[in-house]
Amino acid sequence: MPKHILIVDDSKTVRNLVAFIMKKEGFRVTTAEDGLDGLEKLYAADLVDLIVSDVNMPRMDGFTFIKNVREQEAYRDIPIIVLSTEGQDKDIQMGLTLGANLYMVKPAQPEKMVRNVKMLLG
Ligand SMILES: [Mg+2]
Repeated sequence: MPKHILIVDDSKTVRNLVAFIMKKEGFRVTTAEDGLDGLEKLYAADLVDLIVSDVNMPRMDGFTFIKNVREQEAYRDIPIIVLSTEGQDKDIQMGLTLGANLYMVKPAQPEKMVRNVKMLLG
């Protein structure tokens, strides 16, 4: 069974790009267009192995999304990578404090993204 990655980003371009990169690596991919949609897709999925999430999104931002995910026992251990244009220390600190495993600043190199995903999936 290929590992299942949930990609949450309000930019269709980013969603499609990250999905393309991950599919090329053989991963199964589900996309969501904001944090709320991300939660819905997470609940609807049988299993999500890793989440890649943007920060700035309408309806529910990435930090609120991560907080919601981590508050639920069933999703406490899913690796989360933040992929954001916000690269200040305070943003990175916030992301990691809320429970993200890694914080990547856009634009991220595809190879680096793949390497990080594989590392977190062990
Ligand atoms: Mg965004």
